[in-house]
Amino acid sequence: MYIPTIIVAVIACKLKLYLPVSFRKKWIATGALWMFLSCLLLFTSNNNNTGRFTLHEDVYPVNVVYNCGFAINKWRHSQQYPVLSKNFTFKAHKDVRSSKREIYVLVIGEASRAENWSLYGYPRETNPLLAQTSGLVVYKDAITQSNTTHKSVPLILSAASAEDYSVVYTHKSILTAFKEAGFTTIFLSNQTPNRSFTDFYFQEADHHQNIRCSPDGGMTTVNNFDEAMLPLLQHYVDSISGNLFVVLYTYGSHFNYKERYPEIFSLYEPDNVANVKVENKVQLINAYDNSIRYTDNFLYTLIGMLRKQEVISALFYTPDHGEDMLDDRRKRFLHSSPNPTFYQLYIPMFIWFSENYQRDFPEKVGYAVQNKPKPVATNAVFHMMLDVAFIQTPYLQPGLSLVSSDFQTRQRMYLNDHDKPIFFYNAGLKKADKQMIDKRKLSH
Ligand SMILES: [Zn+2]
Repeated sequence: MYIPTIIVAVIACKLKLYLPVSFRKKWIATGALWMFLSCLLLFTSNNNNTGRFTLHEDVYPVNVVYNCGFAINKWRHSQQYPVLSKNFTFKAHKDVRSSKREIYVLVIGEASRAENWSLYGYPRETNPLLAQTSGLVVYKDAITQSNTTHKSVPLILSAASAEDYSVVYTHKSILTAFKEAGFTTIFLSNQTPNRSFTDFYFQEADHHQNIRCSPDGGMTTVNNFDEAMLPLLQHYVDSISGNLFVVLYTYGSHFNYKERYPEIFSLYEPDNVANVKVENKVQLINAYDNSIRYTDNFLYTLIGMLRKQEVISALFYTPDHGEDMLDDRRKRFLHSSPNPTFYQLYIPMFIWFSENYQRDFPEKVGYAVQNKPKPVATNAVFHMMLDVAFIQTPYLQPGLSLVSSDFQTRQRMYLNDHDKPIFFYNAGLKKADKQMIDKRKLSH
């Protein structure tokens, strides 16, 4: 409101246009009164989103200056990452060696929300194949630590967490930990590089390939379905001997949903919609559900590939965050909003163990099952994957590993816009979100 006023005032000063003294006096008094009332309101009310109030985060234009400084600082730190992380080592080693080959796969989904997975109670059968897959342990009370891709994926791939985010600036990723323990690492991506730490981690892998980037190295992207990564993976599995650690970074259910699956997966129709409008909600949900069903098929096929190898194997799946789908009166859509919603936070998460793994390491599988009802967040992934593969490093926290008897139930934190941890329940969730949290019996 006051920016146009300031501009008009500056112009008036320049042009030497003076208002009458009586007029100015009247408006000084009115302005002072408004300022007094504003200050009263400011200091008598809390920020109703987070329950706390700070001058630098909540008062305009102080927050603009602060946010600019914050962003520049982050950018500078990110630029220094190659230097700051250069000598970092996990001091990782494998303490249990198996007679068979081992292949561990981490699949990162995109914008996949638990609400639309039939494994999580959704009435439409969106997971018909995973539902009949043996060796699956599904975590029903799982949430993400961030509703933005560029922060959530590095949180999944590194020892960083909402509570300790700053380690992303100096630590390497899980790929390096596996490498140090003697694994050959592979990173296949179907996502456009986004200049986040994910890009640095991608480069850490022994073999990395991005199928979304134009083959000529140009700026255009190629819309491949996630399944296009599978023949590449098969090639690496066949051509490299020894133990493998694989990250598959899928495009999952990213908008525009209709473009995420081949025509044959248009099971729920009509699904041909490009515009986000409340009138198109039915089509949007149909297309979204088709994309989840396609993910179900993708994961099932991948598990089938691993089964065929007859190796010791495990696969962990988690998306980076969920998605809003015009769910309630707020009519919110997509993700990455300043304050998350229940639908953006609540995600599907599971681990699959091959028969060989189950036979050789029943103890780990037993703990995975034992920890099934416990509340979990994406901060468990790094620790769990290393623990599944019997990799030891001082950075592994057994309290965060779902395959450990030491796994601890803890307050789950959300990484806010200012990279600070905040109890997810207080991260700006509204009444409608809290009702859903209670309905789905999520721990808080
Ligand atoms: Zn995302």
